Amino acid sequence: MSEGAKKKEEKPRKFQAIRGTRDLLPPDTALWNHVEQTAREVFVPYGYGEIRPPIFEVTELFARGVGGDTDIVSKEMFTFSPDPLSRLEALRTLILSTREYWGGTDFPQALNEPLQEFVDVLKSASSRAQIPETAENVASQAQLASIANRLNQLITVEDSPDIDEVNDLCEKVELSVESFQFQDAASLRPEATASVCRAYIEHNMQQLPQPVKLYYMGPMFRRERPQKGRYRQFYQIGAEILGGSDAPAIDAELIEMLMAFFDKCGLQGTELSINSIGHASDNCRRGYVAKLKAELEKVKDRLGADSQRRMEKNPLRVLDSKLEHEQAIIEKLPRIADHLCDDCKTHYAALKRELELRGVIYRENWRLVRGLDYYMRTTFEITAQGLGSQNAVCGGGRYDGLVELLGGPPAKGIGFAIGEDRLILSLQESGKGAAPQGRDVYIAWMGERAYATAVRAAKDLRNAGFRVELPPTELKFGKALERASKLGSCFALILGDNEVTDGQWTLKTLADGSQQKLSEAALLEYLRNQKAGL
Ligand code: ATP
Ligand code: MG
Repeated sequence: MSEGAKKKEEKPRKFQAIRGTRDLLPPDTALWNHVEQTAREVFVPYGYGEIRPPIFEVTELFARGVGGDTDIVSKEMFTFSPDPLSRLEALRTLILSTREYWGGTDFPQALNEPLQEFVDVLKSASSRAQIPETAENVASQAQLASIANRLNQLITVEDSPDIDEVNDLCEKVELSVESFQFQDAASLRPEATASVCRAYIEHNMQQLPQPVKLYYMGPMFRRERPQKGRYRQFYQIGAEILGGSDAPAIDAELIEMLMAFFDKCGLQGTELSINSIGHASDNCRRGYVAKLKAELEKVKDRLGADSQRRMEKNPLRVLDSKLEHEQAIIEKLPRIADHLCDDCKTHYAALKRELELRGVIYRENWRLVRGLDYYMRTTFEITAQGLGSQNAVCGGGRYDGLVELLGGPPAKGIGFAIGEDRLILSLQESGKGAAPQGRDVYIAWMGERAYATAVRAAKDLRNAGFRVELPPTELKFGKALERASKLGSCFALILGDNEVTDGQWTLKTLADGSQQKLSEAALLEYLRNQKAGL
């Protein structure tokens, strides 16, 4: 290896955050904190408590909760199965497909190798408690080990093994490998509604006074193509109301709270769209979807490939299309409002009245839909300015069937999820970015004696809530003042031998360069008044 190549190799690798993830840094994080604080201030008076569910859960929870054939679940989840289970899963698949692949006589030979490895990996995994320790698993493991031993002996040691015994062993292998219980695969959460419902069921929250109102905030993960306002790790602030009734006032109050939150954040150009998607029954949404599909059949040739595919699987989602040439076609399709059953119609009318009563301005959008059966009636979305095509900052709706679908009691449900990244982006675009973090006081000290006083002063001032910078090593006053203004400090507290001896400290106002001498107590008082006046 040449010297140059060696040098290159020795140079430590520089790491970067993975594509689609990013660091949130000061001063931006101050705005993030402010937004989260505002959410708490708005949600708590409406009776919400915070829930912090785990960031990963059993994959199947999301498959059921979000819907197995939604984009989120079919291609956007980060799924992992703990090592060495992925190896065991692979071996199991191999073992179970070996007979088909090899057929007749070579089959036992081909089976032997993966089987021996399966038994070995199983042994080490179970000794490290990486396998569920059920009675069936313990029995299967013991049986497999002895079969594997015998099979190995028959086909590698004996000249003409008893074919019947070999076949019998192979069959047993397949049976017990197939029935072996592995740990469930887990996924990083792509959203939190399914987790909140799981928690409601797991902790018997139906026994609490209903409805239960919960809010959450935190990171979500989706394997999407990163672009402005679309990340692989992004943040949501959401709320759910579970149990109780489905009175339209509940939907309206949730939306009122949401709009109050955006208002308090100072979000510009918000638009609330609402719709009712009825409920899954023949005299309501199912009837509508059948009609929609029939109409789509007639215009099929003029639709793009995506819409043609959706038309078969989930016709409602065709209404989501953003394709220019499909817009005129979609506008002529039948609308759900004309096909709602009487109950859903009444619910929707009452929702609109309730929103008006609360002074919430909305726009109706008949194309706002959700593709899953347990979504029903109220759906809504909020858009904001400055976000390009990713302009949805919040989506929400009613999902009365979800808790039951996840194995819980029948329970009504409604909620929303705010895209915090997009909310922040929009606030920043409209000039509501965070102010750079300055310091209130920079302590310029010189000399041993002054240092001791400076350390004490820094502690006292910080205790009183001031942002204080205390340089760790001695600096000439000129240099110290330069640093103070670079840090955006309001004041420099100058402490030298004279100040300590006289008990009169020098306070310099950096904006105008003026200086004054104050006793320690007077200085604290002065700073307090200044801060109150800011
Ligand atoms: P979109 O149509 O923008 O993909 P969605 O329908 O997938 O949104 P929901 O699952 O309803 O979104 O999530 C609620 C909110 O979360 C969205 O309105 C959006 O603000 C935000 N969001 C969703 N996916 C992402 C992402 N990958 N990056 C940043 N924010 C996101
Ligand atoms: Mg999406």
